[in-house]
Amino acid sequence: MDWFDDMSVYLDNAATTRPCAEAVEAAVKAMTENYGNPSSLHKAGLDAQLAVDYARKVIAGSIGADSSCVYFTSGATESNNLALRGAAGAYGRRKKKVVISAVEHASVDETAAALENAGYTVVRVSPREDGRLYAADFAVACDEDTFLISMMLVNNETGYILPVKETFSAVKRRFPDIITHCDCVQAYMKLPIKVNALCADMISLSAHKIHGVKGVGAIYIKKGVRVVPIVTGGKQEKGIRSGTESVPLIAAFGAAAEKLLPTIQERYEKVSGLKAYLLDRLAEIDGISVNSPEDGSPYVVNISAEGRRSEIMLHFLESKGIYVSSGSACSKGQQSGVLGQFGIRDKRADSAVRISMTAETTEEELDRLTEAVAEGFEKIRG
Ligand code: PLP
Repeated sequence: MDWFDDMSVYLDNAATTRPCAEAVEAAVKAMTENYGNPSSLHKAGLDAQLAVDYARKVIAGSIGADSSCVYFTSGATESNNLALRGAAGAYGRRKKKVVISAVEHASVDETAAALENAGYTVVRVSPREDGRLYAADFAVACDEDTFLISMMLVNNETGYILPVKETFSAVKRRFPDIITHCDCVQAYMKLPIKVNALCADMISLSAHKIHGVKGVGAIYIKKGVRVVPIVTGGKQEKGIRSGTESVPLIAAFGAAAEKLLPTIQERYEKVSGLKAYLLDRLAEIDGISVNSPEDGSPYVVNISAEGRRSEIMLHFLESKGIYVSSGSACSKGQQSGVLGQFGIRDKRADSAVRISMTAETTEEELDRLTEAVAEGFEKIRG
């Protein structure tokens, strides 16, 4: 039997989403009919280039950017690496400091750690006692020696929405030369994103979180901002990211973005309703605490079932055909320390379970989840 059948309840959409029919169709078309190399000078090449350009136009338009500023990568991990390492290559000779939030995804945090090993100073700004980050704390952390600030828009573990716009505009007011980078992976197609409104010089996107296919992402780089490429070769993507473009994955990314763009608001409202419903149902179970902030992205709900270890609960739910995640899916069950930054520690962090929805999630699915959580809570000891 497949792991996913009609009876399964997939609630791990922050880890990855099911590709939509439009994305699959676009990928298949690019593989079967439009399989030229975009760099080739004949018609097959031109047609492939047109498919890539179309996706670029859709994605650029979706974030209020010019097409010439969007580059395709292998995913947001690469986009984040390019943002940090590329900016260090371009600006890091004279300036040595990078400021990030202490709740970044590993693809930013580990890359910052690599820069630290190479001699740069990295300042990680933590949430205050109330579990929230403040623009003023980032502004204080920046100085004349800082060349880059990087912070995500929506945290992947709790759904917390970071004050990116306030922070970037405060930093730019004092230090107009600091480059601002935002990892928008968990926000893209869930919250409206406009590069200018966000004051972002660079943003990272991933296709597989928006019902596209794994293995493709994008980076927006504002005109005039320099990055030294981390992948060199045939100078595709204007030399920013060499390597033959994955036309099927890029076309699928464009198709998924085109499908979702008109319904951001409508889906947000629907998922907000689902979150409220889920929290009401969970409140019926004694011993459940909610780790996500009330005003976080409704797509992610992080809870703890007191004294029941995450992995044990996760596998109990799996035995009922319900798929959730413990903390961050990227870390394969390893605690990332991000929950601790939000003040969720010890036993509560050990029992954290992340439920992540889409607009297709139903109340019936959430009923099944809450019933299984209640049963798991009774049956699991430790
Ligand atoms: N940034 C955030 C916030 C994420 O949640 C993820 C994936 O979980 C990534 C970056 C990495 O994205 P990708 O899987 O496209 O490399």
